Amino acid sequence: NVEVDADGKSNNISVFVRVRPLTREEKARGEKSCVQVLKDTQFIKVVDYGYGYNALTRKFQFDGCIGHEVGQDQVMEKCKVQRLLDSVLEGYSSAVIACGQTGSGKTYTMCGRNEDRTTHGDGLIAQCVTYLFEAMKKDHSGNQRSYSFRASYYEVYNEQVNDLLRLDCAPRDVKWSVKDGYYVDDLLLVDCECVDDVFSVLNEGAKNRKVGSHDLNKDSSRSHCIMTLHVDSCSEIGDGAPIVRYGKMLFVDLAGSERLKKSRSSGDMLKETGNINRSLFTLGKVISALAEGKKGDLVPYRESMLTKLLMETLGGNSLSLMIACISPASSVVEETLGTLYYATCTK
Ligand code: ADP
Ligand code: MG
Repeated sequence: NVEVDADGKSNNISVFVRVRPLTREEKARGEKSCVQVLKDTQFIKVVDYGYGYNALTRKFQFDGCIGHEVGQDQVMEKCKVQRLLDSVLEGYSSAVIACGQTGSGKTYTMCGRNEDRTTHGDGLIAQCVTYLFEAMKKDHSGNQRSYSFRASYYEVYNEQVNDLLRLDCAPRDVKWSVKDGYYVDDLLLVDCECVDDVFSVLNEGAKNRKVGSHDLNKDSSRSHCIMTLHVDSCSEIGDGAPIVRYGKMLFVDLAGSERLKKSRSSGDMLKETGNINRSLFTLGKVISALAEGKKGDLVPYRESMLTKLLMETLGGNSLSLMIACISPASSVVEETLGTLYYATCTK
């Protein structure tokens, strides 16, 4: 399952950038786009007009860049998500991780067009889950493999884990075992028999996501949200022992990566932003260490809650995908550059 480049670096984690279109309000304000995906879609160009006449142009390279004109239905194919899903069916763990500043399109990319956060029609999660259920149906017709799908949904907020499906409970403990690595103790797992069951889980969890009123954006999501779909299967072959596979697909909608000074945070909020940044910062360090081929203790998984929980999924033979979401608006060029530098570091 592990893929290695000619230079010996592993590329189990691919990094894509997605540019959203300017919104109607931004256009009405006269916002200009400062981002351009180049013809060879591995490259993206950002023009920073902050220096007056001496506009600075920066070029970045990724596994792929997705322009504003690309619709939801094409994202899965462009980012080659199918190979992640196939590996999950074979019993591996995979993650799709969306990062970027608040308002850059993370939730849209993962969940779809959900202004009121109640529908999840066309995002990556819907498409991935549909693919997995279809694969199960196809498989059933041909051989003796039975599947079970179970979903959990939790958030990492202030280095604590809250079960988004059970509001009334205290933060969950994170434990470690030889077999499972780090895991959240006593998390509610919901049996899912069809795509709609998974949407119900998303809807229930979305209602409970922590939202706080930053100066920057009233609906700024300040927690990292992780929806996990456990795909277990068991096949009976002849008289031998059944082959059991435990696959896991994680969908991670990270907290906004905007900087402290812009949102004028203070007090509790300051601590919170620090923790968000610690998790994001550590995640960057972990992915970059893995890309360099580092192993074991050289990868700083244990420095944040988020990376502990992603440890199994990011290391080893797992395939994962990071989608860095950016806004094209020239007024947020600094944040956009921040996101792109962050995502570049992880390569
Ligand atoms: P985030 O989750 O990063 O804070 P959202 O996903 O909520 O950002 O997106 C912010 C706004 O931009 C939403 O109104 C969303 O519908 C819109 N949007 C984001 N990405 C796209 C896209 N690719 N195409 C059209 N609209 C988008
Ligand atoms: Mg969001």
